[in-house]
Amino acid sequence: MTAKPEKIRCDACPVMCYIADGKIGACDRYANHGGDLVRLDPLTVLETSPDKLVPFMKDTGGSDWDGDLLQSEKSFITAVGAGTTYPDYKPAPFIVSQEVEGVDMVTIVTEGIFSYCGVKVKIDTDRHIGHEREAVLVDGEPIGHVMTSEYGSKMLSLGGVDHLTGGSKKEGRVTCDALLRLCNRDPVEMQIGDISLVVQAGQPPVINGVPEKLMRVGCGSATIGMFAKQWVDHVDEVVVVDDHITGVLSEHQAGKLLDVPPTGIKILGRRSTPGRYFRVAEPGTGWGGTDIDDPLTILGPFNAKIAWQGLRLLMVSTTGEQYAYFVLDADLKPQPAEIPPALKLSAERIAENCEPSLCSVLFMAGAGGSLRAGVTENPVRLTKSVKDSLTYVSCGGAEAYIWPGGGITVMVDVMEMPTGSFGYVPTPALVAPIEFTLRKSDYAALGGHMEEIRSTADVLAADNRTLSHNQSQPHPHDHRHYRWKDRS
Ligand code: SF4
Repeated sequence: MTAKPEKIRCDACPVMCYIADGKIGACDRYANHGGDLVRLDPLTVLETSPDKLVPFMKDTGGSDWDGDLLQSEKSFITAVGAGTTYPDYKPAPFIVSQEVEGVDMVTIVTEGIFSYCGVKVKIDTDRHIGHEREAVLVDGEPIGHVMTSEYGSKMLSLGGVDHLTGGSKKEGRVTCDALLRLCNRDPVEMQIGDISLVVQAGQPPVINGVPEKLMRVGCGSATIGMFAKQWVDHVDEVVVVDDHITGVLSEHQAGKLLDVPPTGIKILGRRSTPGRYFRVAEPGTGWGGTDIDDPLTILGPFNAKIAWQGLRLLMVSTTGEQYAYFVLDADLKPQPAEIPPALKLSAERIAENCEPSLCSVLFMAGAGGSLRAGVTENPVRLTKSVKDSLTYVSCGGAEAYIWPGGGITVMVDVMEMPTGSFGYVPTPALVAPIEFTLRKSDYAALGGHMEEIRSTADVLAADNRTLSHNQSQPHPHDHRHYRWKDRS
């Protein structure tokens, strides 16, 4: 009997670690257990109760769905814990088949190594977190930048090949680590200019140490439109302070239609259409995402020909969290006054209409030429098969959005994936699960590794990590994904 070597070589990624007995490789994913190379995390399997599956056969109308399925037929093998093959002409770690409603299906399962990957982050807040194109730093290293804002949310683009491979070694390492933590739903502290930000998927952002609570109900103009009717009987003028579009009731179309008379108010900003003003202040973490704490700073003097003593003015932010009530004195200067209950209620209603502020993290990556070779000897056919809706792509069982155009560029919400789905290798690159599901006949047609197909039952083992299929996600076997569902 030949003695096993003291160290074994892991060939699951280009790093090619030599791993001593009892030790783990550089990525913490593989270990040498008595001379055997083992993947440390268990293979994750999703289970679905039979009545949650959608029958495939259009012509049966589901009438023959008896729910009496074998365990293996209820199981979907995800790529979480599946391992990686390298170089990728080697077949994927698992190519499994199962019959679903009389159709032979195949799923090709692999943990892809993605050098071309990153995350898009949506942060529900009005507060200023940095200017568009400003660098996002972690540990002093640039890992991405601020993108243009969306409605009620700030957006970040983090990672990507330029940060992973195009900068210094430290930049690549820090970027990879930040992406890994974000994708595995851990918090990451970032710096954008003088703003500190903590981002964690599924949690409110923390901006300059303060957790954000609410996402705004709309821009200042939209807020005027929504609440004008609730204000007209109780106040003469309303200003909704917003960094993007500040609204003024008496000038706004909503106020005009409700016969609100002019008030002689002057807003210090760039007038857009009536009752809508841009740039009333600088962006910041104050009222409505501006840098102001005192709303009166955006007002000029009232027009003495129009305004009157006793004019009632409400100023409110787009989340309703800040509001103030004023009455004009004899000099037409706004003086703070106690807010009437009806107006206080309207501010509270704005807040009530705001959704909780969250961070959303979407993983985005390109399933490149080499990864596709683990599926078929003719990689472009896999791309065509995905575009032709013959192959369904999932990541840890979660639906992956496929971008139009060339290649297989996927985007997936990390909150819909099993926890701990992501790993890394020190090249640096992120490791993410990806599964391709299609009919066995279509797999043969695209030049698949048919000789590697095993039954799902063969792969199931006692040490699998078994999770319930995420009901918010379509099942990869759902017939509606596939073009052939329409066959007669
Ligand atoms: S980094 Fe991980 S996957 Fe790559 S060779 Fe080392 S142990 Fe294997």
